Amino acid sequence: AKDGGRGRYHFYAPDLRIDAEERRQLEEELRDAVANGGLELYYQPVVHTVTEKITGFEALLRWNHPVQGFVSPSKFIPIAEDTGLIATIGEWALRTACQDLAQWPTNVRVAVNVSPLQFSNPALPSIVTNALAHAQVDPARLELEITESVFLNDDEGTEQMFRALKAIGVRLALDDFGTGYSSLGYLKRAPFDKIKIDQSFVRGATQPGSRNGAIIASIVSLAEALDMETTAEGVETLDELDLVRMLGCSHVQGYIYERPLSSQNAAARLSTGLIA
Ligand code: C2E
Ligand code: CA
Ligand code: CA
Ligand code: CA
Repeated sequence: AKDGGRGRYHFYAPDLRIDAEERRQLEEELRDAVANGGLELYYQPVVHTVTEKITGFEALLRWNHPVQGFVSPSKFIPIAEDTGLIATIGEWALRTACQDLAQWPTNVRVAVNVSPLQFSNPALPSIVTNALAHAQVDPARLELEITESVFLNDDEGTEQMFRALKAIGVRLALDDFGTGYSSLGYLKRAPFDKIKIDQSFVRGATQPGSRNGAIIASIVSLAEALDMETTAEGVETLDELDLVRMLGCSHVQGYIYERPLSSQNAAARLSTGLIA
């Protein structure tokens, strides 16, 4: 980075590891936040590419740290997963998202991220059922976002869990498609309603010579053949929006329309209707 125009440049490797001490402290503070209502859910609109109407929101965790301000989920979710705190956080997120959903028009859905650790918990179907019943919302309005990593230990339990979740009547979305251990076999065996195309494919897709457009097009045709919807994630520019629309993605999520909003602002956004 250039230092204040004085012509000196500092180069540094970003420190990707959080050191052990900082991590221990964050863990303690995260426990405290979980126990004392320090977490919040934000909601990012998911927009239909043709009607440009909000069809739903993705619920995204926010931790407003007393000193550090907002701590990114990509920093604290891994800690929550390592420590098992994700079980408590995940259940809280499901209950909170369902309660917020109950306040919104019935044609709006909410998508909740489910970590692989939650997915391997045999109690997940009853946790989901309880959250829906408590908020009294139609299961078809809840979508669970699951990443490919749940297929890593692909066994009897994985298929059973998919069946149990489908039996509740919730929708299932395959998150971050193409970034992990993609195998077309998963798509055949797991009853997904939607594929979320990772933003790494959208990013750069509009650059000349990029192969990302071809990849997006083939994901879309695969999804259509299997009767699944597609959401293009991380759409930031008009060019990207035009492209993913032309390539046939059914839904779009990204800063081009809206950043994640507080539940209050999400409700206010809905009352304005169209968001073109
Ligand atoms: P994700 O599930 O892939 O969520 C999408 C991420 O992309 C969110 O980051 C969202 O704010 C960001 N995003 C949306 N539109 C744009 C855009 O146009 N440009 C860019 N650059 N980014 C965009 P966020 O909120 O920081 O969350 C990061 C990750 O943390 C999520 O990725 C998800 O893996 C995890 N996460 C968030 N909330 C939860 C949760 O409740 N449970 C679990 N298990 N994981 C969660
Ligand atoms: Ca997600
Ligand atoms: Ca994603
Ligand atoms: Ca992601």
